[in-house]
Amino acid sequence: MFKVNEDYLKLQGSYLFTNIGKKIAAFMEANPEADIIRMGIGDVTQPLAPAIIKSLHAAVDEMGAAETFRGYAPDLGYEFLRKAIAENDYKARGCQIEADEIFISDGAKCDSGNIQEIFAKDNRIAVCDPVYPVYVDTNVMSGRAGIFNQITETWSNVIYMPCTEETGFAPELPKETPDMIYLCFPNNPTGSTITKDQLQVWVDYANKVGAVIIYDAAYEAYISEDNIPHTIFECEGARTCALELRSFSKNAGFTGTRLGATVIPKDLKAGEVMLHSLWARRHGTKYNGAPYIIQRAGEAVYSPEGKEQLAKQVAYYMKNAKYIYENLLAAGYSVSGGVNAPYIWLKTPDNMSSWKFFDYLLEKVNVAGTPGSGFGPSGEGYFRLTAFNSFENTVRAIDRIKAM
Ligand code: PLP
Repeated sequence: MFKVNEDYLKLQGSYLFTNIGKKIAAFMEANPEADIIRMGIGDVTQPLAPAIIKSLHAAVDEMGAAETFRGYAPDLGYEFLRKAIAENDYKARGCQIEADEIFISDGAKCDSGNIQEIFAKDNRIAVCDPVYPVYVDTNVMSGRAGIFNQITETWSNVIYMPCTEETGFAPELPKETPDMIYLCFPNNPTGSTITKDQLQVWVDYANKVGAVIIYDAAYEAYISEDNIPHTIFECEGARTCALELRSFSKNAGFTGTRLGATVIPKDLKAGEVMLHSLWARRHGTKYNGAPYIIQRAGEAVYSPEGKEQLAKQVAYYMKNAKYIYENLLAAGYSVSGGVNAPYIWLKTPDNMSSWKFFDYLLEKVNVAGTPGSGFGPSGEGYFRLTAFNSFENTVRAIDRIKAM
């Protein structure tokens, strides 16, 4: 009789956004006339920019002609895209990252979930609390998280770094020493950021204790303030302790088109072993690459027209974020985020639990957000709203909340 991977049985409930989707679907079935405004899942709403579509069309045509047709992509991804990323996201910022240290993929969710498999099972992970659920769940699946405590809602082998109002929703160095540290700034869900000096403290710490930082830069394009790092490789010494996950989803609207990249410097080693070699081996063995046409579409993100069009898209979402932030603040809510990130993190009124506030908003004003407790125990009593909607819908949703 075959056996299943029992670590999967330890997972708690279904994925947060699957749960939310089910709740909204049930509400809609019971209230078919309800005009629901979705500000929950972090999915973009604007179409792909014209420069991207142009590049995509051209690549599709290439695939239809024998002379330009492409089959399997190179293991690490096409050189044209890896070079564009190295030049624009790293060298232009003074960071020493080479094209052959970049692995193209179909997105940061997959990479953030898969990367843990090149690490030993007995490594201890440290995560921010609240946190993007994928980091913890994928470590549960691989048997690294330990046992779940139903009362504290924490895993026995996971080191939690609470990000609370007192800490400005930033983590503090953990008391126990982790082997793998997940950091994501600008942060999902809180929308918080840390300065370059603060991130340098983490890099120094990781180098000192021999930990690796898995840095998720998915929201980098939303940074508006000067002293916030766009990549961990702006910090001195990051090449020996960090790898970085990048996504084309939030800066360029590739949530449905799928494109991402993972950067692993060749200096990042466990003893003599380069993590770069392990990930290259994994890519070569298990992954056949993001499609050529999508990688060409991704290249257009770095063209002058692409950059100009995408800056406008991001500015559009950030106008929404500003509207949400300022209006909820004026209405007496305690809010944060929304300045360098498309997420607004608000304290639920009257000490309502996060899920109670979710139900309350959905039922009273037909606005769907995300309960903070879904991101970890320190998210209880908080709620996340996203700026990924039309400005008109954002205004309608906030007006409804204000009128409650
Ligand atoms: N990382 C973080 C922190 C996210 O919030 C998300 C999506 O919401 C992702 C990664 C997923 O990125 P991708 O669409 O590239 O898989």
